[in-house]
Amino acid sequence: MKDNMEYESVIGLEIHAELLTKTKMFCDCLNDSEEKQPNKNICPICLAHPGTLPVINKKAVESVIKVGLALDSEIPEFSKFDRKNYFYPDLPKGYQISQYDEPLCRGGKLKLYLSDDPQESLKEIDITRVHLEEDTGKLIHPEDKKSTLIDFNRAGIPLMELVTESVIHTGKEARIFAQGLQVLLKTLGVSEADMEKGQMRCEVNISLKPQGQKELGTKVEVKNLNSFRAVERAIDYEIQRQTDLLEAGDKIIQETRGWDSVKEITFSQRIKEEAQDYRYFPEPDLSPLHLYSKTKEGGLFDLDKLKAELPELPWDKKQRIMQLYNISSAGANLLLQDDKAFLFFEDTVTKLDPEYRESGTPLAYNYLTTDILGIIEKKNLKWEDIKISPQNFSQLINELVLEKISSRVAKDILLEIILTNQEAEQIIKTKGLEKISDGSILIPTINKVIKNNSKAIEDYKKGKENVLQFLVGQAMAQLKGAADPKELEKLIREKITG
Ligand SMILES: [Zn+2]
Repeated sequence: MKDNMEYESVIGLEIHAELLTKTKMFCDCLNDSEEKQPNKNICPICLAHPGTLPVINKKAVESVIKVGLALDSEIPEFSKFDRKNYFYPDLPKGYQISQYDEPLCRGGKLKLYLSDDPQESLKEIDITRVHLEEDTGKLIHPEDKKSTLIDFNRAGIPLMELVTESVIHTGKEARIFAQGLQVLLKTLGVSEADMEKGQMRCEVNISLKPQGQKELGTKVEVKNLNSFRAVERAIDYEIQRQTDLLEAGDKIIQETRGWDSVKEITFSQRIKEEAQDYRYFPEPDLSPLHLYSKTKEGGLFDLDKLKAELPELPWDKKQRIMQLYNISSAGANLLLQDDKAFLFFEDTVTKLDPEYRESGTPLAYNYLTTDILGIIEKKNLKWEDIKISPQNFSQLINELVLEKISSRVAKDILLEIILTNQEAEQIIKTKGLEKISDGSILIPTINKVIKNNSKAIEDYKKGKENVLQFLVGQAMAQLKGAADPKELEKLIREKITG
């Protein structure tokens, strides 16, 4: 890698998210982005038949306002929809209903709160605007045919667009921003924001300028980034590509590029000679929106009420997780990004024996994030497949805190209860897995181990302390992990040095 300290990269993001409403933006068709049967959820309005009239989906407007309130954006009293004119085969109207000069939200900030680095997690990214528009249909290019098919199920699904100021400098910052926005949208319940399903899509624009120069460099857009990895990698690739060009004395061309996720490179799609003119004008079929009234009379929404009803916002939740449960920033991020795991964790903690809650909480966190989530990932399961209840999990943690079972036994049992939700205590009893610290049971095993490892015993006597752990391990294996390791160590030491 070349040293690109000479150039400052200036990055802005445009993020689209499909909103989670029952019906589409301007008609009564179902809003179901996962519908497999093509052209099922369509009607004359979303197919743009002449003479049809759109009707605004109030819930979609409310969703965007909620996002704005969470980001501390300014919500204007009035807003309106505009026509953005362009011809595209998946846009039967010949225009898209969008918002131009009076968006629903202006300004606002989102912290990079999901960063594991405390310095970075304080950084605030300025938002330019958040507005509402309709999604387009989908073009399908069958491999074996020379034709293109169009599916209009997606046409008219409410789409939120958020634009940031050009204040991002690295691929990593952009990724953490997008991840943070996704968590926020899910927390607010306004979008599933699943990037793989196309419910959230990112575009980035990147320009480089020599350090200290005010004027921005030539902007390059990268479109269709459909994973967080793609956002980060595409930006880092572009920064390097543009740096190399500038250093070689070449010019950057203003263009739109695509991302090849296999080769991990960007490629030119369209060269923009001048800014496209969409000939925006106010949508004549929709009256302007009177969102709220400062005098509390009239208007579609009561902003104070909406604000008061917002759920706990993710950055506040993060603080609470860190302070209340004494969990690291990285640990809290993990729980923030998996709401089901977090609810399970909180429920478990309330069910722990109050007397041992303090020592049980970190154990619950560790076993949840390493073992339970590990098994979910390894076996490709969903939370719904997991049978273990918080009640049962807390019982297992209690047994561990009281040192009734060893951590090895706990891991074995956990695998079983995850799939069956059999009671931990029951399994421990029926399988005889309680930690044995009764010398009369341990000693026969110890004798056997000592007899079979005479070489190791000699080494120990010569001063090799770590041999002791080896012997404990041997005995533990014979007792199937159900022994108190401290007691074993003590007894073995006594036997050898005895
Ligand atoms: Zn429709």
